[in-house]
Amino acid sequence: MMIQELKEIVVEANKELLKRKVVIYSWGNVSAIDRNKGIIVIKPVGLPYDELTTENISVVDLEGKPVRGEKNPLKPSVDLDIHRALYENFQECQAVVHTHSTYATVMAQLHHEIPCFGTTHADYFAGTIPCVDLLTDDEVINDYEWNTGMAIVKYFRTHNINPEEIPAALSINHGPFTWGEDAWDAVHKAVVLEEICKMAVHMLEINPDCTAIPKVISDKHFFRKHGVNAYFMNDDHGHGMIHNK
Ligand SMILES: [Zn+2]
Repeated sequence: MMIQELKEIVVEANKELLKRKVVIYSWGNVSAIDRNKGIIVIKPVGLPYDELTTENISVVDLEGKPVRGEKNPLKPSVDLDIHRALYENFQECQAVVHTHSTYATVMAQLHHEIPCFGTTHADYFAGTIPCVDLLTDDEVINDYEWNTGMAIVKYFRTHNINPEEIPAALSINHGPFTWGEDAWDAVHKAVVLEEICKMAVHMLEINPDCTAIPKVISDKHFFRKHGVNAYFMNDDHGHGMIHNK
């Protein structure tokens, strides 16, 4: 893929966040990586979505430095290092989305993971979406953004969670991150995650003791759409990173 094409996709994917009402102002960002070219395309910091173009989007290398020959008139999102930590450690991840969508952020601020309360969740995520651990004071003071990304990575490693099967996490006290096989996939999951969190918040209001559905049902819903034995892929609901493997 040409860099220009990737820039066009990431511009439109960022605008999609606004259209789907998972961001206000500039409260979120989409990036995508081209691992062959060694570049990341990401929304610049603070720019309203309707002013985002292929001329002002940020193009950086895998270390976060501006790519020579690209215009880069603005600084990349302050969250760039969170995205970089995910790309460096989750090799299948080709795009990352961060928002402060209301219900997902409510769950993050409650330090509450998102159990699989129904098949809507299971169509996209193979189990509980975690709310990851707090950073230490030192991790907040030094390299805060990188450490925020690494908190997600460490949680997935410690708890043996496959980031292809659970392509989302809540950054504690902060908000949601999703990732996917391309920018559209990652945005789709950010929008779905918000709906799932909305359902979860209402369920917990009605019954604080509600529990996840049986694993046999959640596995059935996830793995009929994802992975080697998938047989139900001809719709766009539940489309995921590993569906073609
Ligand atoms: Zn944020």
